[in-house]
Amino acid sequence: MNPIGETPSGLSPRASQPRGASKNEVKVNNMEGKLIVISGFSGAGKGTVIQKLMQEHDGYALSVSMTTRQPRPGEVDGVDYHFVSNEMFEDLVKKDGFLEHAGFVDNYYGTPRAFVEENRKAGRDVLLEIEVQGAGQIHDLFPEAMLIFIAPPTAQELKTRLFGRGTDMGERGMKRLRRAKEEAPSIPSYPYLIINGDVDACAESLQSVITGAWTPQSPDGPHIGGEIITDPAEKEAFARNFSAQLENVFDTK
Ligand code: 5GP
Repeated sequence: MNPIGETPSGLSPRASQPRGASKNEVKVNNMEGKLIVISGFSGAGKGTVIQKLMQEHDGYALSVSMTTRQPRPGEVDGVDYHFVSNEMFEDLVKKDGFLEHAGFVDNYYGTPRAFVEENRKAGRDVLLEIEVQGAGQIHDLFPEAMLIFIAPPTAQELKTRLFGRGTDMGERGMKRLRRAKEEAPSIPSYPYLIINGDVDACAESLQSVITGAWTPQSPDGPHIGGEIITDPAEKEAFARNFSAQLENVFDTK
């Protein structure tokens, strides 16, 4: 089943685009910041793209998720994630402290509610880097949220990046690849698919989509290495091909 669910009131690829308001206008008018959901296969490099986006452009607030998974080498508590026990996570679920939460591979992940609400109120555009079930919950709660999926160009590239970071070798990495196979069919339900062939280009495409500078009709094409796909048939074709490639990738190492 499609985790994003049926798109209520016929959400079209254009329905969650910004309505012509630039960031400055948002602040001058004291309007709420946008809510931007970025999903992508684990290991696809979306974290690096988001870092690049925030280095190059002001006005974003990145939500730091809570997770029950163990920190990877180099990850810092409170920066990469809030690392918590199962008990603490469950306690916060009971207290309605999450905007959304989901299980992924062997752990729980959730978006703390307060940070998002406070930053949106302050006029900052809030970025959520979350997987597809969480994205579906956000879409149901906030139909105005922009949903963007970032994917590497090929499944082989995903495998190379995932195993290349050296933290998810063996069975842990394979579980993430299997999860990618489960997630791929959800790609078409995201209004925007951006291909991460090059980090800089992908970050600029992301910025163009968020600000509304890029539309399917705009004369400037997407940045090379950051192709933007909104056509439903093209998104479906990409998802199908990616799933088929993943089948082959499972057998190659
Ligand atoms: P990782 O363990 O690789 O850091 O993250 C695994 C997956 O969980 C990624 O797809 C990541 O985007 C997603 N994720 C991270 N934080 C959250 C969250 O707060 N909620 C949900 N639903 N997914 C999250």
